[in-house]
Amino acid sequence: MNAPEQIPARRLDQLTFNHSFAALPPSFYTRLQPTPLPDPYLVCASEKAAALIGLDPAEFATKHFADVFCGNRTLENALPLAAVYSGHQFGVWAGQLGDGRAILLGEVDSPNTRPSGTLELQLKGAGLTPYSRMGDGRAVLRSSIREYLCSEAMAGLGIPTSRALCVIGSDAPVYRERPETAAVATRIAPTFIRFGSFEHWFYNQRPDELRTLADYVIDRFYPELRDAAQPYQALLREATKRTAHLIAQWQAVGFMHGVMNTDNMSILGITLDYGPYGFMEAFDVNRICNHSDANGRYSYGMQPRIAHWNCYALGQAMLPLIGEVDDVRAALDGYEQEYQTKFDILLHAKLGLRADQENDDQLIQAMFGLMQANHVDFTLFFRRLGNLRVDDKTGDEPLRDLFIDRAAFDAWAEQYRSRLRQENSIDQVRRTAMNAVNPQYVLRNYLAQIAIEKAQKKDFSEVDRLRKVLDAPYDEQPQSQQYAELPPDWASQIEVSCSS
Ligand code: AMP
Ligand code: MG
Repeated sequence: MNAPEQIPARRLDQLTFNHSFAALPPSFYTRLQPTPLPDPYLVCASEKAAALIGLDPAEFATKHFADVFCGNRTLENALPLAAVYSGHQFGVWAGQLGDGRAILLGEVDSPNTRPSGTLELQLKGAGLTPYSRMGDGRAVLRSSIREYLCSEAMAGLGIPTSRALCVIGSDAPVYRERPETAAVATRIAPTFIRFGSFEHWFYNQRPDELRTLADYVIDRFYPELRDAAQPYQALLREATKRTAHLIAQWQAVGFMHGVMNTDNMSILGITLDYGPYGFMEAFDVNRICNHSDANGRYSYGMQPRIAHWNCYALGQAMLPLIGEVDDVRAALDGYEQEYQTKFDILLHAKLGLRADQENDDQLIQAMFGLMQANHVDFTLFFRRLGNLRVDDKTGDEPLRDLFIDRAAFDAWAEQYRSRLRQENSIDQVRRTAMNAVNPQYVLRNYLAQIAIEKAQKKDFSEVDRLRKVLDAPYDEQPQSQQYAELPPDWASQIEVSCSS
């Protein structure tokens, strides 16, 4: 791998845009300006996200920065536009959707982003577009902070994701269940093209645009597929594989997306569109994080299957390009194997197991069964498991305390210890390896809630503090121990819905 290229820090006015997406036919988008907001102010900004585009963090505090990233001033050379797409929502064809409140500014140089070498900058919550449908084109401070924190937390965990540069607030009222205030989050990703972007042209019976879109995606983001025998089938296979790997990574940290509609599924296999997401706390395989998802279509345990279903929707949309149903099916068939293999690898690493042995499945199933029966905190379990010593039970207490049924835990721990002995596992070595994959800190809902409530009173310090903790989730941060603890009782009352 090449060493990351250091980009000299640039002033905001030195950012220049490329416009490969805007060079697509006009039917792909509508050009428009963001709608201004009164008296914008900086809520939060990420130095790490800024580094991706070589932006100098000294710019964050300027009025110009707030003006630009709330959409009140357009940078020279930007070509703001809203893209069209469609999608299946909760399993039902929803027809045309599109960027109802997101506005793309263009693509900025990012030498370390392969293979495109660029990252798109997108304002979310920047006002009405032709695709706003019944919406107001706005986003509230609450949901913008949630998107910002989780984007950066996922990046910290090493999980593919869109990033968040900043949130800019305004006191302009935005009405949801109750009056809130407006905010604009600036998101960064190589592209925001979704499964639903392909479905859009398929269901509108526009094969030329469908091909143009697929060619654009291959040329810019999957150039190695250009030489495949069947490039479109190869694209479907690769997108399916990346999706399978992404979901395995979600499952391995207990991340629940909450709204896995096909319009929220990235063609690059990155996590996209943070709404009513959640991280698993007391383990329940059927846990539903989205209060609006009454049937649990997007519960934790359903995510792997739903992602496969979504790949089928993509495959259906790509059928006119690929030609043969059997070729579509062949590309989709890889999903289960890719998912299972990746999830197995991740779980072995989480358990500190180097080899893959025949009975491991049984050990792992028993572990999940116990976690379920005892409502064990997902993050604390794996982190504390790393402290277990093969030949010394005296340190078991903090881990054992997570279980109501201590005897059942002891019995499982005995099996686990004998499994570790089989591969002559060394405590210290295993602990270091496990700590590198089992985070100490995840974005628990209540932590986000505290930060949001302070921010709603104009104290943005907690958003900043929390994000910095989540930037390095695998590190011991003794001064931030409180962020690693079990949620307080009131946390179970928090309801997160699609309202944003
Ligand atoms: P989501 O499921 O949140 O990703 O949103 C689904 C669709 O609704 C997308 O096309 C969004 O752009 C659109 N949308 C959501 N909220 C709003 C809003 N407040 N104003 C306009 N469009 C919205
Ligand atoms: Mg969406």
